[in-house]
Amino acid sequence: MASDIPSQARVVIIGGGVIGCSVAYHLAKRGWKDVLLLERKELTSGTTWHAAGLIGQLRATQGLTQLAVYTAELYEGLEKETGQAIGYKRNGSLSVACDHERFEEMKRGASMASNCGLEVQVLTPGQAKEKYPLLRVDDVVGAVFLPRDGALNPIDVTRALAIGARQNGVRIVEHTKVTGVTVEKGRAVGVRLADGSEVRADAVIAACDGRSVLFDMLGGRYMTEKTRQHYATWQTFKPLLMATFGVARLFPGEPAFTTVILDRPFAIGSETIPGLFIRLFNYGEGYAPPGKSVLQATSESGWEHWNTLRGQDPALYRAEKRRVAGEILDRLEVLYPGLSGQVEVSDVATPYTTWRYTRNHEGAWEGWLMTAQAMRTSIERTLPGLERLYLAGQWVMPGGGVPPVLYSGRHAVQLLCRDDGMTGLP
Ligand SMILES: Cc1cc2nc3c(=O)[nH]c(=O)nc-3n(C[C@H](O)[C@H](O)[C@H](O)COP(=O)(O)OP(=O)(O)OC[C@H]3O[C@@H](n4cnc5c(N)ncnc54)[C@H](O)[C@@H]3O)c2cc1C
Repeated sequence: MASDIPSQARVVIIGGGVIGCSVAYHLAKRGWKDVLLLERKELTSGTTWHAAGLIGQLRATQGLTQLAVYTAELYEGLEKETGQAIGYKRNGSLSVACDHERFEEMKRGASMASNCGLEVQVLTPGQAKEKYPLLRVDDVVGAVFLPRDGALNPIDVTRALAIGARQNGVRIVEHTKVTGVTVEKGRAVGVRLADGSEVRADAVIAACDGRSVLFDMLGGRYMTEKTRQHYATWQTFKPLLMATFGVARLFPGEPAFTTVILDRPFAIGSETIPGLFIRLFNYGEGYAPPGKSVLQATSESGWEHWNTLRGQDPALYRAEKRRVAGEILDRLEVLYPGLSGQVEVSDVATPYTTWRYTRNHEGAWEGWLMTAQAMRTSIERTLPGLERLYLAGQWVMPGGGVPPVLYSGRHAVQLLCRDDGMTGLP
């Protein structure tokens, strides 16, 4: 065992994404001292690294809306508390409806949000255009504007939560992979590490890929039929292909996020790519050296194609990445003439890359897809026949996303405190 890892802790947290760090932070705030967080690579090297960090507070239910409000308030004070800037900008969000049914749904959400104390404005198409002049409103029925929504940098939020946790005594150890949960007499009593050593604990909170925990670390035991069914039948978010280019140019005044429908779609395996989501990192100064910028083009792309290629021949896999980067650059030329000649660095992350970094099943980027079925069902955060193990993160919260998964971390802490007979919410 590495010398900085204690052989015993009161609570072991598995995973150092935004959720694991949030759990550590909230435990520390509740006064828990002997807490250990283990991360297989580096903090935020999993899914959290990729998040665009859009923070919307309007949710499907009143409970979720209240929790979203809590999270937004937490972010507000985090920078002051920890000294770590998180890039939190509350510049508002504008949602438009192109039919009456959708507008009705949005107005109901707005009314619920207003009851929860959120500032919300219902707008006519003309008022929406005043807020965002680039908007085409000829087919827009109405809009909702939340002035206190915003965006932040998920990596920095995670760091801030980790700083806050450390300041309150939590120990965080990176480059340490958990391979199993030790169970004795129906109780989680510690974790096993990749080097064969063990850390004993009074409780374990898993804030990493749900499938790895349930099937690999626990061997498929302790699952209800309901949870087994979720894992067998529920859809996950289709993985992404992300081509990122460091370019010797700037994009002044261009919108940071755009979706383009391609005049000339191209193929990846048996799939046609009809459009690209384009992200320009032109809203901050730290993303590239002066005079240069970063452009990222994203599309959904099937797991099978990339996983099969990587398994068959890594050289073929790399060649396919180069081909796809070329196809994308060729399409981007239409939008940004001369771009190909300005590329200085490029990187293509495939669904296989996502899996390699996150261990998320088949490269899913936000866990379970938010289907009608998934939205109506809650996922268990404790397991039958196994005490002292708690699940948190995007695999217990369909739809994933930074704000919802943060609540699941707070919920795991509440469950743990409840089981320890503590009162009051952390
Ligand atoms: C391209 C992209 C864009 C996104 N955009 C947004 C957005 O705009 N807004 C939003 O809210 N959300 C967004 N998301 C989703 C959001 O990033 C995730 O829902 C959230 O970060 C999940 O956090 P997590 O802590 O549950 O998971 P992770 O960040 O994946 O953390 C789990 C951690 O556990 C570690 N781990 C895994 N196995 C082990 C092990 N055996 N031992 C030790 N450690 C282990 C991993 O290395 C990882 O660091 C986006 C995601 C992607 C990919």
